[in-house]
Amino acid sequence: MASRSISDLHPQLAYAFGKAEAEWLLINPTAPKPFLVATYRSSQEQQTLYDQPRDRKDNDGDGLIDEKDEFVTNARAGQSPHNYFPSLAFDIAFRNSKGATDYQVKWFADFAKLVLKTPGITWGGNFQSLIDRPHFELTGWEKLVKK
Ligand SMILES: [Zn+2]
Repeated sequence: MASRSISDLHPQLAYAFGKAEAEWLLINPTAPKPFLVATYRSSQEQQTLYDQPRDRKDNDGDGLIDEKDEFVTNARAGQSPHNYFPSLAFDIAFRNSKGATDYQVKWFADFAKLVLKTPGITWGGNFQSLIDRPHFELTGWEKLVKK
């Protein structure tokens, strides 16, 4: 399992999430609440996710092997900003008052507006290809990890 801890996040991302979350609770007290689903993810776990649609296993337990919805990422180990420590990206979801997870597009778009008040962050909802609404990353993270 990937880490869900805010303390495994790059400080700029931890600040942006914490501030946006606090504002969200003030502005939308009855709406589903955002929470961190993933911060740091090891290279080994990244590779396992990448391999899902081609590993001849039923990864999601639906009785099908390597079907379309086992595809979750284009990134191999080391190619995702989640694979660096502290993590250069985080993923979120929302939880309603009954404890159920909520993935409505509207929540992500509204929360992104709050997160993006902190400069230097890119939202996956603005990606040109493979839109990834739960995902936020440090803009230009590739340059930070260049060897
Ligand atoms: Zn992500």
